[in-house]
Amino acid sequence: MKSFPENIENVKKRVEKLRREIEYHNYRYYTLNDPVITDYEYDMLLKELIDLEKKYPQFASKTSPTQRIGAKILDSFQSVRHPFFMYSLDNAYSMNEILEYDRKIRRILNTSNDSNLEYVCELKIDGLSIRLRYEKGELALAATRGDGRVGEDVTENVKTIRTIPLILQKPVDVDVRGEIYMPYEEFKRLNSVRQQQELPLFANPRNAAAGTLRQLDTTEVAKRHLDSFIYSLEFPERHDVKTQWEALNYMHELGFKVNRESKLVHDFEEMKDYFDRYEKLRDSLSYPIDGVVIKVNDFAIQASLGFTAKSPRWAIAYKFPAEQVRTRITDVTIQVGRTGTLTPVAHLEPVKLAGTTVKRASLHNFDYVKERDIRIGDIVLVEKAGEIIPQVIKPIKSERKGTERPIEIPKSCPVCHGKVGKLDEKDVAIRCLNPYCPAKLEGWIEHFASRKAMDIRGLGNKLVSKLVKKGILKDPGDVYELDVETLSKIEKMGEKSAKNLLDQIERSKKATFSKVINALGIPMVGEGTARLLGERFHDISELLNASEEQLMQIEGIGEKVAKSIVEFFSLPQTKRMIDKLISHGVTCSKESSDLNNPKPLKDLRFVITGTLSRPRDEIKERLVELGAVVTNTVSSKTNYIIVGENPGNKLTKANNLGIKTLDESELEKLISELSSKNLQT
Ligand code: AMP
Ligand code: ZN
Repeated sequence: MKSFPENIENVKKRVEKLRREIEYHNYRYYTLNDPVITDYEYDMLLKELIDLEKKYPQFASKTSPTQRIGAKILDSFQSVRHPFFMYSLDNAYSMNEILEYDRKIRRILNTSNDSNLEYVCELKIDGLSIRLRYEKGELALAATRGDGRVGEDVTENVKTIRTIPLILQKPVDVDVRGEIYMPYEEFKRLNSVRQQQELPLFANPRNAAAGTLRQLDTTEVAKRHLDSFIYSLEFPERHDVKTQWEALNYMHELGFKVNRESKLVHDFEEMKDYFDRYEKLRDSLSYPIDGVVIKVNDFAIQASLGFTAKSPRWAIAYKFPAEQVRTRITDVTIQVGRTGTLTPVAHLEPVKLAGTTVKRASLHNFDYVKERDIRIGDIVLVEKAGEIIPQVIKPIKSERKGTERPIEIPKSCPVCHGKVGKLDEKDVAIRCLNPYCPAKLEGWIEHFASRKAMDIRGLGNKLVSKLVKKGILKDPGDVYELDVETLSKIEKMGEKSAKNLLDQIERSKKATFSKVINALGIPMVGEGTARLLGERFHDISELLNASEEQLMQIEGIGEKVAKSIVEFFSLPQTKRMIDKLISHGVTCSKESSDLNNPKPLKDLRFVITGTLSRPRDEIKERLVELGAVVTNTVSSKTNYIIVGENPGNKLTKANNLGIKTLDESELEKLISELSSKNLQT
């Protein structure tokens, strides 16, 4: 096909065919778990579509499977008014209440206990409610519940969820409701990454799903594999569907992921069996549920029962009891995290909770302990939220004997015996303040090698961990003493990859002076402060000898930061590390920095508007590195405005002021022109 001149009509047909096919295979793979082609074949179809869409942008479509990748940065979420009230459910907490409910319904309907009243039992998925609107079979809107009347438009984020069809199996107009959730496995993965980065953990899969759906960066949403179950069909009469059971089947046929555990039941006994079964099976499911929902099956009967102010009379939710137990705290030890955070951990009298024996539980931080007045020896309530580390909820104060001991903040770091404290008042974490604490070394070297510092690709977390554990890296300066022999001895590292890594390490020596300062990991000095220091000081020895007063003269550096810098440079270990960096030829002055990193965009002012092919921050960072000033608002001083898809008001203003516009390829051209000009002068 490629060798013929492409007939535009044929291209259009091919694009449409590819979209249908890819969506179909997506459905087979994610929703039915039953793929009919290989991953490779799927990737090839997707690649062909991506290429065609690039070449023929006139065929772009908002419901193309290529939209699932994300790659959009949103400014905010628009509010949407729901065309119908998004009800919530009445709750029951015991089987007795369910029995009562069944009796009440029968009373209202005037039917006896043995007459044929059908209910559908469904699992109550523990995620967040979503409304989806399809027009002619194409996804037109995805909205959160909000307060039931007004929610938020989260369409772009929802498109990244593979089990949400972008195109249905039939070209119908339809409104459905369902639940977006995070599977346990993804929840564990996400939290373990966050734990490594010392970001706050999500308490349960529901919070994680909610937090993810509210991300403005759709690429991040695509990375966290959310999933869905659709359980409700709005305006069923438009589809000639008469019962909830038929609705579930109809929605399945349209291509939605519908939960297969639902069951049609006829009396209270059957309902009870269903509850008992899933209360036991709960922990073996791959997704979180917090109960069971029962719904009157027949829509005509539903209509006759109607709604209360908040919820339908034809349905009720039975919530499983919370998984909490009582036990005693026998001791508390302190863990030191990768950035030096001190976390109190409770040791417990072993107790069974949600199918496992629990011996430890998190106490989060010392503020948490103080607020709840938790003491060693206390009987406490322990809860397992989702499937993460159990946590101590509160002490049972009435059980106190008077022998309980308070949990004290340690006077020094349990690992290195260094000073501990808060970095600033707003911080809840108490940290070890010794920059050379062994507990922090891995994290420090990872920071040293990261993109915003020395940018050593190939020196990833796993390798750093091995090198630190084997005692090969004792401070970041040791990175420059690595050789093929040492690296080859490390598990799984062949000679070729060892050489590649050494090339990267060699290249990193030319990093800008500011990035080198950032890489040093001076407490309280982030990327921005490092840049200020890199601009103000000529070389590292000048910085090393700077006094607090000198530092405080720099705008943007206050007393605390200045103190921290002086303290860091006064440590003998710092001097040794810097000597290593100097002796290996790492950029340690402004002069060599400028030589290695020319600034072709020096003094040019840029503004960015619209969606670009890469995250805006990345483009901004690159421009700044090349010497540009990037601002948020257009003024007469602006030299260029970079325009992406769907530009905002900034473009109108720029046009009025006669400012030059650039698209991404024109920007690249400008950079290379100015760079070559720079070399000649
Ligand atoms: P609650 O928020 O606890 O009052 O429970 C009501 C919510 O349960 C609804 O708004 C839905 O988001 C959710 N839910 C989960 N699974 C189902 C289901 N199978 N049928 C109806 N609602 C469900
Ligand atoms: Zn320490």
